[in-house]
Amino acid sequence: MEKQRTLSILKPDATRRNITGKINAKIETSGLRIIAQKRLHLSLSQAQAFYAVHAERSFFGELCQFMISGPVVVQVLEGDDAIAKYRDIMGATNPANAKEGTIRQEFAESIEANSVHGSDSLENAAREIAFFFSEMEIVS
Ligand code: ADP
Ligand code: MG
Repeated sequence: MEKQRTLSILKPDATRRNITGKINAKIETSGLRIIAQKRLHLSLSQAQAFYAVHAERSFFGELCQFMISGPVVVQVLEGDDAIAKYRDIMGATNPANAKEGTIRQEFAESIEANSVHGSDSLENAAREIAFFFSEMEIVS
């Protein structure tokens, strides 16, 4: 299997409820390693730039407002097949459809406040990691 890196965000609903450690425990139990991590409070323009791929979606405005409603924790995760593996343990976007044991099934509040973000492709992972981190901040 290919060793990959993926960008993770613990969203404002997770920092608000003080459950970032519980989510990190699930990440680490899965075998993924947190090789970079920092806490940020995004500005509106940063949230809009990060989610630019969703600019045309009906929920874009609300999503950006939610993402700036409190601090987030941005992370780089590394491991075998990390992109798909993280998507797998995150669970479906809508927690109502998320499988038992996934982060979103256990912790998400709603389809919007769904606790975590994970990159969906190699190309987006590289773009999203570079959006938040310099190489010096990533230590495998
Ligand atoms: P995922 O995070 O599972 O990759 P998307 O990339 O489709 O999902 O959507 C990005 C984020 O936008 C979701 O994680 C969620 O916070 C929000 N979102 C997605 N669909 C909706 C929706 N129908 N209504 C409100 N927010 C949504
Ligand atoms: Mg997505």
